[in-house]
Amino acid sequence: MTKLNLIAGEWLAGESEIENLNPSDVTDLVGIFAQASHSQLQATLAKARSAQAEWANFGLERKQAVLMNIGNELMSRAEELGRLLSREEGKPLVEGKGEIYRAGQFFTYYAAECLRQIGENADSVRDGVEIDVRREPVGVVAIISPWNFPTATASWKIAPALCYGNAVVWKPANSTPASAVALTEIIEKQDIPTGLFSLVMGSGSSIGQRLVESPIVNAISFTGSVPVGKGIAAAAIENLTKVQMEMGSKNALAVMDDADLDLAVTLALGGAFGGTGQKCTASSRLIVHDFVHDAFVEKLVAGAKAIKVGHALHDDIQMGPVVSNEQLQENLAYVDLGKSEGAELACGGARLEMPHEGFYMSPGIFVNSGNEMRINREEMFAPLASVIRVGSYDEALAVVNDTNFGLTSGIVTQSLARSTHFRRNARTGVVTVNLPTAGTDYHVPFGGRGDSSYGPREQGKAAAEFYTTVKTAYISAGAPK
Ligand code: NDP
Repeated sequence: MTKLNLIAGEWLAGESEIENLNPSDVTDLVGIFAQASHSQLQATLAKARSAQAEWANFGLERKQAVLMNIGNELMSRAEELGRLLSREEGKPLVEGKGEIYRAGQFFTYYAAECLRQIGENADSVRDGVEIDVRREPVGVVAIISPWNFPTATASWKIAPALCYGNAVVWKPANSTPASAVALTEIIEKQDIPTGLFSLVMGSGSSIGQRLVESPIVNAISFTGSVPVGKGIAAAAIENLTKVQMEMGSKNALAVMDDADLDLAVTLALGGAFGGTGQKCTASSRLIVHDFVHDAFVEKLVAGAKAIKVGHALHDDIQMGPVVSNEQLQENLAYVDLGKSEGAELACGGARLEMPHEGFYMSPGIFVNSGNEMRINREEMFAPLASVIRVGSYDEALAVVNDTNFGLTSGIVTQSLARSTHFRRNARTGVVTVNLPTAGTDYHVPFGGRGDSSYGPREQGKAAAEFYTTVKTAYISAGAPK
């Protein structure tokens, strides 16, 4: 049965449908999903505006209960929904379950934030005048989310949007619609005004583009690729719509001569190949001090070769397929490109045949690569990592910072001086010390610099900057009579 869109509070069929196949086994049809029409989009946007005004007037505890219920349901159904997520996206079951649980935590965190919206006050420079500064909802928020964290990324946008009193129109990635419908079903049954939350599945170039061009939308939160992000920003500026964008990166993990090598290898393998390398925080550049280079590479290659690739829902695997055939072909083209640029493929990077037809490839490691190579400058979103050899800490830091991106970076060292210097001088939004470049918390800001991010930070209290607008009130109470 076709899964429907949520339009102005009603579950409706669309103008067409798409099939969603399991990337671990393309004979497994995950489901058929409606594609919203442009008129449905207009209808749901109009309804969202009136529903938002109603929601903003709900009491704090009423809003808090809604978010808490969503979060608790996600966490209690992590097993079931994690299985669905892994089935359609291809990440190992343990990662799918973890993602659903984490998505729940975003909702419970922002449930509590409903009660912590405290403004500022000040005395005016004018006698007898007081100032009250508080945040109000920004209005109707368009959320455009990617397939690689279909539930978590959407949740770290939807939860604060609702917490701060906004309506949401959500366009999920067409590669992962089942997770989107599951989350929408949980949200829709809550105590919320009709039409406060909409699901508009459809292609990015059609329904996504219309959504970001709409003058009814007050703010757009996007996660995805740089070219699409730039297009969205250009559309947004036409209506002076607020934008927040989290895009790609080319994150570096610097391994120093004093590093605990086993730890460094574990961090590099997890950072490069977790989620099949399809993470904006993936460690795709491994910048390694000459002194430990050969020993590190030997252990790294042995570790990569030992990674068990297979069907995402099978218990004994560590890495699933990539999300689609298109992504697989792009990845294999990057392998060829790396070799043609002069990097040496030390292992992997090849299509894998399995008993079931899916989009499998072996984790690949390039060595003897240079930071100027395209494989080290472009986000590949693949289970591929490159080792870049450096001669000193200073050179490592320079290479880490020599990128157009700037989401995360990490250093593996036992030196407090180096880790402190790195923490303060790496030009990324997130810095890690003796930890992977991927894997962040929900109660603190997340975002990057350069081409990685644009607009206010996501997550934690920082999200309030994007999902609210500030009002400054001046009050002259006069003298009591
Ligand atoms: P896209 O940037 O194309 O897609 C991200 C989201 O934007 C999807 O929901 C997509 O919809 C939507 N979208 C696409 N075009 C438009 C548009 N014109 N207007 C509004 N919304 C639009 O990323 P892909 O999924 O195609 O992945 C391509 C590459 O992007 C990856 O290989 C990776 O490098 C990068 N990426 C980075 C992510 C990150 O976390 N930073 C996440 C995902 C991708 P739909 O998919 O339905 O077309």
